[in-house]
Amino acid sequence: MTDLSRNAFLKSIIKDIPVSALYSWNGKLIHSFEMSYDWTGYESQFQEIVFKASGSLSPFYGHIKNDRGGSAMIHVVPLVLNKMSGSYVLISLFPLLSIEDYSHDAQLLDVAVEMIDEAVVITDATNKIIRVNGAFQKLTGYSMHELQDKTPSFLSSGVTSAKTYQEMWLRLLSDGQWSGEVWDRRKDGDTYPKWLSITAIKNNEGVIVNYIGVFTDISKEKETEKIIDTMAYYDALTQLPNRHYINEQLTLMVSSAELSHQKSALLLVDMDRFKLINDSLGHTAGDRLIMQVAQRIHSTVRKNDIVARLGGDEFLVVLPVVESVSDTIEVAEKILEALALPCLIDETQLYTSASIGISFFPSDGETVDAVIQHAEQAMYAAKKKGGKCYELFNPLLNETTMRRMMIENDLQRAIANGEFNLVFQPQVDPMNGKILGVEALIRWNHPEKGFISPVEFIPIAEETGFILELGVWVMREAMGTLKRWLDAGFEPIRMAINVSARQFAHPDFVGVVKQTIQACQVPAHLIELEVTESAVMEEPHRAIQICEELQQHGIEFAIDDFGTGYSSLAYLKLFPVKRLKIDKTFIDDIGKDSQSSTLAEVIIILGNSLKLEVVAEGVENLEQLAFLRERGCDLIQGFYYSAPKDEETIVSYFINGPFETINSSYCNLQTDQEK
Ligand code: C2E
Ligand code: CA
Ligand code: CA
Repeated sequence: MTDLSRNAFLKSIIKDIPVSALYSWNGKLIHSFEMSYDWTGYESQFQEIVFKASGSLSPFYGHIKNDRGGSAMIHVVPLVLNKMSGSYVLISLFPLLSIEDYSHDAQLLDVAVEMIDEAVVITDATNKIIRVNGAFQKLTGYSMHELQDKTPSFLSSGVTSAKTYQEMWLRLLSDGQWSGEVWDRRKDGDTYPKWLSITAIKNNEGVIVNYIGVFTDISKEKETEKIIDTMAYYDALTQLPNRHYINEQLTLMVSSAELSHQKSALLLVDMDRFKLINDSLGHTAGDRLIMQVAQRIHSTVRKNDIVARLGGDEFLVVLPVVESVSDTIEVAEKILEALALPCLIDETQLYTSASIGISFFPSDGETVDAVIQHAEQAMYAAKKKGGKCYELFNPLLNETTMRRMMIENDLQRAIANGEFNLVFQPQVDPMNGKILGVEALIRWNHPEKGFISPVEFIPIAEETGFILELGVWVMREAMGTLKRWLDAGFEPIRMAINVSARQFAHPDFVGVVKQTIQACQVPAHLIELEVTESAVMEEPHRAIQICEELQQHGIEFAIDDFGTGYSSLAYLKLFPVKRLKIDKTFIDDIGKDSQSSTLAEVIIILGNSLKLEVVAEGVENLEQLAFLRERGCDLIQGFYYSAPKDEETIVSYFINGPFETINSSYCNLQTDQEK
């Protein structure tokens, strides 16, 4: 074996072992490797060591001293290879720290521990503090001197639960490590949260000899967390807990109510006619009023009671422990009293009031939803009495009353929530099937109750005055849609919009209509307003004036549900209306009841004589259509052609062209039979 191949072979064996020198079996130095360590004074002892190794055939470790007082670690490995390759001894020498070296190292660690930003505390096996660093002293305010013989529990604030500490010790004993959040108290008395990591240090026998705790103050992080929490759980305007918060609290309370044998009460406080204030004085004034009301409610209840704002003008007061119903009533009365005092808003004295609904749990419900709903029902009942009073939940409260109250209440939010939409029903020329106009009809898709018919909610909106706001929304939507159709290049058609009596009676009705037309940039002559007979007959003189004024701008009028009211024909002549809409009830009876058919016929004749166009509404079948067409009815609206449809479907009608017209033989057949 050449030197070269032997060296390569040895290298392959040695690989990454930090070998210092290679000796042959008989103590001859074959190769010494380059090292950072000075081995003068050790070298002379190697031969003896090689003999020892080759004699014992087993590797060994040990200390070796040189003649200058230095000391090193030696690692000796005998290598017995085959005859060809021979046998060797590898010697590795490692530096060993001197006493000075050790103390230098400790000093370095010391400096490092002092320099870091984390507070460090080292305790002995009995958890007595033996060392803290500068960051620790800065954070806690205590010096090492003051902590002598104390355990870290000296720092605790009593905020952290016993359970947390228990878990901490269990983990330290089992895994030797724990980290978590702990609340401590500083020397100045402040409590603060810290993130603490503890490691148990064990000796060679596995016995814990020290604990090292490292921690940082996390007050800032906590504060940020709290701000985020506050945003999620508190109402920005009043700083009161919000719906989210109260739901969580109530969930806990309701679930434990059964066990704790305690009675709790819910008071749902809803302001009376708040919308009116908001509408007339503006939202800023409304907000200020809400703030004052929140404050007043808050100041009337006890410390342990919770006041939350559910949204809008609705507050919820939770009395976690009540002795009796009369105690609760007393609270309700106090709140009503506090709210009866005038509020000063922008130097205006405002008188407000509220309606309060009361429910108890667990007696009135076992879930949060149920108790809130029951308080709500009681609140509706209080409103029904005219407001400014409280009402207790009563399971016998009439369901129709409840539904009405629900609608009344939920309407207020429905526009903002985008729960309304419009559908359009074509008005068709029976002679050629062409769509000459559409009637806009509102739809309400309630998030919980589903579709609610306008027949149900329009009268309620009328009564509460909400129809004014809703009417404006309908006008904007309808005109906006018409504008899109015109912009898209479809043939201009009329948009008929329903106007309720209350809208029509509003002093600024004309202004609102004109403004909306202007804002939507639609030609006024394409807008038709449908008013009922009763709406115009309430104050006929004024109605005539309104119609005339709007008509001057090109807007047309139709009398809706004609035949159901008691129109005075004398007045009718004075009205500048363009059309009469025959009510569906007359159309329904075509073919069934000869008298009604005559009524429909009479209306057509009457309309013609007054030079008014006649629209038949609710035309469902061919028979009705034939009858009406024969008698010269100008426009047909009803399921026969199309039910009210969304914008997209109406557009598809435009694209597909006119509806089919009935063949004249059917008409002839009908008229022949009648003859
Ligand atoms: P209306 O003004 O008399 O509207 C006609 C009603 O008859 C619509 O009911 C329509 O869907 C329905 N209809 C049309 N053709 C037929 C048919 O062939 N067969 C049957 N069975 N019904 C037909 P809808 O949409 O439920 O509206 C009911 C009422 O609610 C309306 O009666 C109107 O008084 C009121 N309304 C609807 N939308 C509005 C609105 O935007 N504003 C106001 N103030 N009232 C509205
Ligand atoms: Ca109508
Ligand atoms: Ca009608």
